[in-house]
Amino acid sequence: MAAEPHTIPVAPPAAAAAPTAGSALLALDHEELVIRRGTRSGLYTVVAVHSTALGPSLGGCRMWHYVSGAEAARDALRLSRAMTLKAAAAGLVLGGGKGVICLPPGTHAPDGDDRRAALLDFADTVDALEGSYITAEDVGTSARDMVTIAERTAHVVGLPTVHGGGGDPSPYTAQGVEAAMRACCAAAFGSRELGERTVAVVGCGHVGERLARRLAAAGARVVLADVDGAKRELVAELPCAEWAEPSSAVLANVDVLAPCALGAVLDEQTVARVRARVICGAANNQLAHDGLAAELAARGVLYAPDFVVNAGGLINVAAELEPGGYDAERTRERVGEIEDVMADILTEAASAGTTPLAAAVGRARRRLESV
Ligand code: NAD
Repeated sequence: MAAEPHTIPVAPPAAAAAPTAGSALLALDHEELVIRRGTRSGLYTVVAVHSTALGPSLGGCRMWHYVSGAEAARDALRLSRAMTLKAAAAGLVLGGGKGVICLPPGTHAPDGDDRRAALLDFADTVDALEGSYITAEDVGTSARDMVTIAERTAHVVGLPTVHGGGGDPSPYTAQGVEAAMRACCAAAFGSRELGERTVAVVGCGHVGERLARRLAAAGARVVLADVDGAKRELVAELPCAEWAEPSSAVLANVDVLAPCALGAVLDEQTVARVRARVICGAANNQLAHDGLAAELAARGVLYAPDFVVNAGGLINVAAELEPGGYDAERTRERVGEIEDVMADILTEAASAGTTPLAAAVGRARRRLESV
């Protein structure tokens, strides 16, 4: 038997402020925070439910190292807020939540029976929330781990296709990035066609490599960059592709910069020197802080909000919750609609004289307030 959950009330929200990503979300409150020490693994498992206003909260399970359970809880609170925003902006009938399995610092990620124990403990925490939180894979967990979690709770998505799930979300995330990029190019260059464009893809992992292949197939010239030199082999496979070091690719003289590695790639220094007219990539939290969106706009750079651009992965796992079950074709159609969503956001930003980030946050906020 797992321990009883402890539900900790979260401090009341800060006073409402101007609609930037951070402030708008601070004006919302979390509904629940559950922290349990697993009886099998002895590890803290955490679930933060930010909002179920639009539907059950959905967000991945992160298995990561934290100095304390409090740090893990803080991360879950922060990440669950971002999921509310992402789901609302994408038009999904889902709220925002996040799970964390807290590994002690300086330890290896568990494997074998230890991993199974940690996942089953987390599954019990998810199940205790009776469907207000649905989990999925995230940093440190995989689709295979979701199968283990499914042994103890029905509230899990991101299962492999052989288990009726959507499998690897990366192809859908890459499709969504391309869709968003077309809307951005239509706004910035007057054409959604990518054949006339040069795009720097920084980070050629699961999403970046697929994006590069899609862009090349659409006739774009691509500049590829990754800290892993082995990714250079991709250049030989694609027409019109060249290799660059990540630091120079971010500042390259290209039409579009697509950050597809880690977060915070756009800080004060890069924002002042970036030469791309459009920034549209998969990485989460690309801006070191929200204020940089206005600085980019002032320099004439169209920054596409990351949580709108990379919603394809979320749309893919959410499709497992459809009444008829997961349908790949329907999911592709739904992901393709990111182009229209992005176009609406850009139109609204232009007519309101604000940034696409502020327009996207405003759109999400209106949906939440409408319920
Ligand atoms: P990944 O780990 O498969 O790939 C990341 C790649 O970036 C790796 O090849 C890595 O070597 C490279 N990299 C790391 N640091 C770098 C740096 N400083 N400069 C250049 N390259 C660097 O990850 P992924 O699944 O492709 O996800 C990429 C980003 O997109 C992440 O920020 C992730 O949170 C976000 N994202 C992914 C999905 C998805 O479906 N996988 C969905 C939404 C958002």
